[in-house]
Amino acid sequence: MQTHKTIAETRAACRAARQSGKRLALVPTMGALHEGHLSLVRAARTSCDVVAVSIFVNPAQFGPNEDLAKYPRNFERDQLLLEKENVDLLFAPSLEEMYPQGSVTWVTVEGLSHKLDGRSRPGHFRGVTTVVSKLFHIIAPDVAFFGQKDAAQVAVIRRMVRDLNFPVEIVACPIVREPDGLAMSSRNVFLDARQRSQALVLHRSLMQVKNAWEAGETDAAKLAAAGRDEMKKQNSVRLDYFEVVDPDSLDSVTNVANGALVAVAAFVGSTRLIDNILLPRRG
Ligand code: AMP
Repeated sequence: MQTHKTIAETRAACRAARQSGKRLALVPTMGALHEGHLSLVRAARTSCDVVAVSIFVNPAQFGPNEDLAKYPRNFERDQLLLEKENVDLLFAPSLEEMYPQGSVTWVTVEGLSHKLDGRSRPGHFRGVTTVVSKLFHIIAPDVAFFGQKDAAQVAVIRRMVRDLNFPVEIVACPIVREPDGLAMSSRNVFLDARQRSQALVLHRSLMQVKNAWEAGETDAAKLAAAGRDEMKKQNSVRLDYFEVVDPDSLDSVTNVANGALVAVAAFVGSTRLIDNILLPRRG
């Protein structure tokens, strides 16, 4: 695996791969890798010739009172994990390399960026779309892999790619969970044993919705109420949102017969966790 810290070296390596007719994949990450990240790498490995992974903790997507300073970082371990997955190229730029002094240009997906996590985390998606645009320009992948865990992020990036004509295919991969249902997240390391068990309520609330849906309920308000009721049972967990929305527009739906995204975000202690399920179209 080649590890590059500069844009120039990364560009040269990716250009060489493309010129030899190879199909190039990108898996953007913020490091502190777990099986969720590695599932994206494996999906990339099976469908592309060259797999590039980026590790960059992007300050632009953290709010002033968020966890940028304490976000987990473990570069050597990440490097070893990626070596084992036969990744070809790791791009791990410094802050200065990505945002040289005087950077003032942003990419914003209007509207969508202010829904779900974007509503709770002002400026978050602007940071995401700006850094992902930069990564797409630097690496120029044929395909980029994202996790369905960050469902709103997938919607925002798909819209950006469509609106700005990025020549890249976006693939969303399923959520990887711990055996007890907790969605894997780099932030799970912040949970102590009690919080780790309290955090299971997110998955449980989604399962309540799924059960109601399987029993035939399609009214979005009733499904959301079932999920919120379950969340309330764990009163040490502070709900941020529990929404039933269209997976592309992120707008609320009244009925889920045509399919819907059910998404939850909540604080367990000071750790903000998210999770979701996709309800497929009925019939
Ligand atoms: P992050 O490092 O948190 O920015 O995540 C990098 C990529 O991994 C994003 O596309 C995430 O959606 C994806 N990801 C994170 N956790 C999971 C998970 N549990 N299952 C699948 N994908 C995930």
